[in-house]
Amino acid sequence: MGPSEFQLPSVEQFESLVGAETVDRILHKAERLSDLHVVHINSTFYGGGVAEILSPLTVLMNSLGIRTGWRIIQGRPDFFSITKKMHNALQGEEINLSEQKKRIYEEVVFENAARMHLDHDIVIVHDPQPLPLIRHFRKNSPWIWRCHVDLSRPNPDLWGYLASFVEGYDAVILSLPEYAQNISVPQRFIMPAINPFSTTNKELSKAEIQDRLDHHDIPTDQPLVVQVSRFDKWKDPHGVIDAFRLARREIDATLVLLGNVATDDPEGQQIFESLCACGEERIRILSAPDSALVNALQRQATVVLQKSLREGFGLTVTEAMWKGTPVIGGNVGGIRHQIADGVNGFLVDSVEQAAERIVQLIKNPELGGKLGRAARETVRERFLLTRLIEEQLDLIGAFEPSFRLADPGS
Ligand code: UDP
Repeated sequence: MGPSEFQLPSVEQFESLVGAETVDRILHKAERLSDLHVVHINSTFYGGGVAEILSPLTVLMNSLGIRTGWRIIQGRPDFFSITKKMHNALQGEEINLSEQKKRIYEEVVFENAARMHLDHDIVIVHDPQPLPLIRHFRKNSPWIWRCHVDLSRPNPDLWGYLASFVEGYDAVILSLPEYAQNISVPQRFIMPAINPFSTTNKELSKAEIQDRLDHHDIPTDQPLVVQVSRFDKWKDPHGVIDAFRLARREIDATLVLLGNVATDDPEGQQIFESLCACGEERIRILSAPDSALVNALQRQATVVLQKSLREGFGLTVTEAMWKGTPVIGGNVGGIRHQIADGVNGFLVDSVEQAAERIVQLIKNPELGGKLGRAARETVRERFLLTRLIEEQLDLIGAFEPSFRLADPGS
């Protein structure tokens, strides 16, 4: 790149958070791989955790000297309607997998392949939308399928179909060992991470927080209970409202449900509209593409909820924990690995349990402070972007010339 008034973020920025030794180790590992050309492929630049991860990850890899690109497949609404059904079925729902749906899915991916022109040393394909790309390239390098969803109980029909594409890859990355599938491709497990310097996560002054909340007319006269999530049924927004209504019998508080709609998620708008019908003076339902508002709400909240019913890994959980805010998370998927119940947050299995924990945290700010401090430390140790970068460097450095993935530790 030529000279610019802007500067790429650098791994050195993380030194005060993760230590000089970690930074040096990453620089050293990156240097050894600096002749590689890597590409990530997914289906949206905006909305949802994958885009939130790829955005800083790809930039930081470039600042480490590894040429890393990011491509996005295009599709008509019918394509994304099918891939959203697949997403839901991967998380356990039924699907009517007709020949017509398969044809649209495969045809749109084929058209994307035709205009993609890949000539990279490592190709990393994210989630089911672009998965069949592998069928259309002469493979000159390792291809990795990185699946972010909660694969603890995928619909068998759908998995049977998708596995035929997955088998073409050289490695699969999942967020957790319990998502492992019965396939011949080597599987590795890497949990996502957050960028502490992004608009969503950077430090904010009290005045900056207040300014954002005022801008969206969010009252701060009572404690805030917040859930930030794509409008998606797996995030259980109606369960959040029910839990809040139960809690309100015992405490005063305002609930804010902030969401957005990803460009590859056609169900969001309908869910948003169904929630708006539940709005009332103390229940605010907001749809706003405003990362600074996410940041302000996670900081101002007395309690953050992430009452998901399935969650591959909840970035929003880690984001709130980083801000020292106690999180009540659904006892599912990745959240179980992010929150240690009663140590750095709470895990809940029902609306009633969520309500009890809301009441407890609002009545007992000291408990919230203690859990929040432990939460921030958990994130510093395990969930910052540097850990993800290092695991990714280790993985791409582990391919042998035959594209075989060396065993971990060998
Ligand atoms: N997010 C946002 N605005 C919203 C809702 C979500 O910026 O209104 C961001 C959120 O901060 C997080 C990501 O979108 O970084 C959601 O990732 P997560 O892993 O929690 O869930 P996913 O949407 O991938 O299922």
